[in-house]
Amino acid sequence: MVNEKMYELGSEPSAIRELFAYGLTRKAEIGEDKVFDFSLGNPSIPAPAAVKEAIIELLDEPPVALHGYTPAQGTPGVRTAIADSINRRFGMNAAAANIYMTAGAAASLDISINAVANEGDEFIVIAPYFPEYRIWIEAAGCTCIEVMAREIDFQLDLAAIEAAVTPKTKGIIINSPNNPVGSVYSEENLRGLADVLCSKQEELGSVIYVICDEPYREIVYEGVEVPYIPAIYDNTIVCYSYSKSLSLPGERIGYLYVPERMPDWQRVYAAICGAGRALGFVCAPSLFQGVIEKCVDAPTDVAAYAENRALLCRGLSELGYEYVEPRGAFYLWVKALEPDEQAFADRAKAHELLLVPSTSFGCSGYVRIGYCVDKATIEQSMPAFAALMAEYR
Ligand code: PLP
Repeated sequence: MVNEKMYELGSEPSAIRELFAYGLTRKAEIGEDKVFDFSLGNPSIPAPAAVKEAIIELLDEPPVALHGYTPAQGTPGVRTAIADSINRRFGMNAAAANIYMTAGAAASLDISINAVANEGDEFIVIAPYFPEYRIWIEAAGCTCIEVMAREIDFQLDLAAIEAAVTPKTKGIIINSPNNPVGSVYSEENLRGLADVLCSKQEELGSVIYVICDEPYREIVYEGVEVPYIPAIYDNTIVCYSYSKSLSLPGERIGYLYVPERMPDWQRVYAAICGAGRALGFVCAPSLFQGVIEKCVDAPTDVAAYAENRALLCRGLSELGYEYVEPRGAFYLWVKALEPDEQAFADRAKAHELLLVPSTSFGCSGYVRIGYCVDKATIEQSMPAFAALMAEYR
């Protein structure tokens, strides 16, 4: 016999993956350029040249050490390089002792939840949200509490968050720039969140952690600033990833940062090491620890995403679609043309447009378009978007 919950998880692939798999089959049937697959968040630009150079340089190093186990939390070299970069960029006072290397944000989030949670605790997520949050929260024996973002601007709804906090609240996951909406929370909004959480902590005599999910930090448009949450709220754990910023999703590399400002950070860091051990997330890929040490400040090239964003926004608004102006990440959050977003996505599919219905992200009425695709896909998809709109006129 197997664990029923795990069996269910494994045998029901996510709606996003299913749509992607459908896209592959459909492309084989009717041709690559006839299917407009906007389902996944796989970066469409190559990793920077600095990454390739770093890999080549590293391959000249003695292979036993290069490919060997590192300390569970990562090499001192990469952890120091990351801490120094955080200090330069955000005015923090981090050291290697605050950094734990991980296999991407997925591992960072899972470790963070398990490090701070006890069974029965609650974690708040802001809907619409990355669907894996619920899976990790529930697998840790905790409850996922959904709080909707404000629909006018998809910023945090502070009153709703305040109302959702209970004595069992252990944390809140904040993802900015946001998947699936593309929103970036303003400094004022985040300061408001910090005020709410500080007063709730005082009232309840508890600690409420912000788990800050940051894979899209570097992907922003028109000079938008992404406020650094640990500089605003002390009980923040940062989950960073190079999957999107350096286009390395398959290499599984990122880090956790437990800021030195957090009261009791050493205990939290030790619990991070413990959760990493319990979950088997130790010793992140060693070659890529070396790469990150060399490329820690390599700039992210967002030019192609910015071009796609402009093309898509212009094209869809000319056709009469409504969407949230994306300020970061590479997703467009578009209003479905009928109340049932699944029915809308199905009609889109009949035009070979693969759009993810908002149900996947815990809310209704929208679809997500991932524009981390070739420019040609966007250009060639416009007649299909026009035909879809025409069906509703
Ligand atoms: N968090 C969000 C919001 C994401 O969109 C993703 C991946 O798409 C992840 C976390 C996981 O990223 P990683 O590849 O670093 O595990």
